[in-house]
Amino acid sequence: LRRVNRTARIIAVCTAVHEPAARRALLEGADDYVLAPLRHDEVESALAMDARTPESLEPAPPAPTDEEKSALVAVLQNLHEGPEAALRRLAAQIQETFAARYAAIQIDGLSVATGTAEPAVLRQSITRGNTVVGSITLGRPRASGYAAFTTARLAEYARLVDAVVNVAHDRAHWQHLAWTDDLSQLWNRRYFERRLAELLSSCARQRAYLTVLLFDIDDFKHYNDRYGHDTGDALIREVAQLLVRCSRESDVVARFGGDEFAVVFWDAEEPRVQGSRHPGDPMALADRFRSAIGSHSFKCLGADAPGPVTISGGIASFPWDGNTPTQLIRAADQALLSAKRDGKNRIQLAEARQPERKFTAFEGGDAI
Ligand code: GH3
Ligand code: MG
Repeated sequence: LRRVNRTARIIAVCTAVHEPAARRALLEGADDYVLAPLRHDEVESALAMDARTPESLEPAPPAPTDEEKSALVAVLQNLHEGPEAALRRLAAQIQETFAARYAAIQIDGLSVATGTAEPAVLRQSITRGNTVVGSITLGRPRASGYAAFTTARLAEYARLVDAVVNVAHDRAHWQHLAWTDDLSQLWNRRYFERRLAELLSSCARQRAYLTVLLFDIDDFKHYNDRYGHDTGDALIREVAQLLVRCSRESDVVARFGGDEFAVVFWDAEEPRVQGSRHPGDPMALADRFRSAIGSHSFKCLGADAPGPVTISGGIASFPWDGNTPTQLIRAADQALLSAKRDGKNRIQLAEARQPERKFTAFEGGDAI
């Protein structure tokens, strides 16, 4: 027990017959003993804190420094980065707080470390209820030894790590529900508009182009009527998978609802060159989607599909057709309606296209 905790108060409890053994326990390092049946006052006096010698009292951990507090605030402010990122920040702070050469955290199947890996010198379990769910390990100290408060402070960090990871997991879960479309698992319209606004302001700063494609499956109602709603759902899912396969990682692919989908094409290369060229011809990118869907044999429709599945789409680009999400989406939507009017199975450019339009988000920027 002493090796586990240098300062714990160790009280032997036994019946009168074993009193000689209890006396020997005192010689071995126990602080006191009480005889059963236990009496309240005897137990209390045996456990009394004031019976301890001053040296046996573990010093209380010092208050966290300002740097430590700021780092912990940063962990909370950046929870949106997810559980693993939060753990990485915590591991870095733990390494700093204890001046360790190496610190690692393992919890819930996640594992992060800072410093050069080396064998653990100290290990603190992380528990949830009665279950051990992870651990914090420290390598050797940078200085000659670890401070006396290390064990107590590590135990506080273990509770903090567990709480932060739980909150970060919860947050990621709710965020996923808020931003994804249940049926297709693509982004939903809420996320699409939010991301489009971010991308637009970054493209305005970098003088880069961006294109929004909106499209809608042609005569989708017929599939529902002919094959049933479940097959209609499966068709939406298959179209979504196809879209993801045809798009680049940086493209934002979303289901707007019903049989309507949206994609943002933008140039994700960093750093952007002033007035960088648009990622390919938007029409060519959109046609890639159209022909991929047109030539795909949809599993959900089986061998007797009535013909290719076709889509109609509208394209609007920044800065020509608008410089806000609403303007661009509206312009693409109008182009989509006109594609439907013109006989479907086609992609149309926004009509309001103004070739001389400038990057209006700039102050005194050059005309493009
Ligand atoms: P158009 O060529 O003009 O686009 O005609 P359309 O038949 O595709 O009709 P429209 O796009 O206006 O309507 C889409 C239909 O999709 C209406 C609705 O019944 C159906 N729908 C909407 N959401 C879902 C869904 O989640 N699952 C299924 N199976 N059907 C849906
Ligand atoms: Mg449709």
